[in-house]
Amino acid sequence: MRDTPAILLNTASIELWPARLARARSNRDARLLAQARRVLRRKSDGRFLAAELPDRLVPLLPHWDRQPGVNTALRALGRAAAAPARVRELPLEGLHTRLDRLGLDAGEYANRTGLALIAEPDWLAFAGFDRYRRPLWLHAEAARGWHRLQAAALKDNVVLEAVSGYRSHDYQLGIFDRKLARGLNLDQILNVNAAPGYSEHHSGRALDISAPGEPAAEESFEHTHAFAWLRTHAPAYGFVMSYPRDNPHGIVYEPWHWCFRASELDTAQA
Ligand SMILES: [Zn+2]
Repeated sequence: MRDTPAILLNTASIELWPARLARARSNRDARLLAQARRVLRRKSDGRFLAAELPDRLVPLLPHWDRQPGVNTALRALGRAAAAPARVRELPLEGLHTRLDRLGLDAGEYANRTGLALIAEPDWLAFAGFDRYRRPLWLHAEAARGWHRLQAAALKDNVVLEAVSGYRSHDYQLGIFDRKLARGLNLDQILNVNAAPGYSEHHSGRALDISAPGEPAAEESFEHTHAFAWLRTHAPAYGFVMSYPRDNPHGIVYEPWHWCFRASELDTAQA
């Protein structure tokens, strides 16, 4: 079904992807996905739960219909005819419960880092593929901004590659669960990973950028032509480097991490 809009419809625990953008894990799944319109994807580990064929839903994982949040996802599937006109934010309530379970003192963490909880959008636009050929999902405004930024760079012979865009709360919680299971403690994980709910990537507006042949998310990116170009030109396209050296959040210097801020765009164009 080629006419499925290229958007990710978001619910608390499950995403709805156009089936054509889903990478099958087996020949059986590949055959089903080829006929499917959309696919239900579990956010915590990226596993596909079921495929939506024209007349029915086909399981891709046993007991898929007993997953938490499946009813919400099925309701979203029912009203998923076209891209919604505007982007809304999903509620944050469920996240608080999960942070408590993790043992994270959200108030203390927010005070210490100056970071705020960031809601996920209820849908995301397909913004092309990242350097690993995975679909790059961004907030609709950030997707437009990214295309303009990438095209402008290319005119100056600078190739920008997307490494990572939207990441869900569940994805970030999944990282924490796996590391805790490996025996790391919460503080050790927080030294490297933003607490679930506090990453700008949840908004779909943040983008990790690299250049061909450059490693992903390394400080050495600051010595590239791509970075020099971004420093000069990115603000005019609404992109701001969120974590410069010695930023007040205590987050390590991230020259690769840029966030689309519509307000910045207004300032640049004023
Ligand atoms: Zn980032």
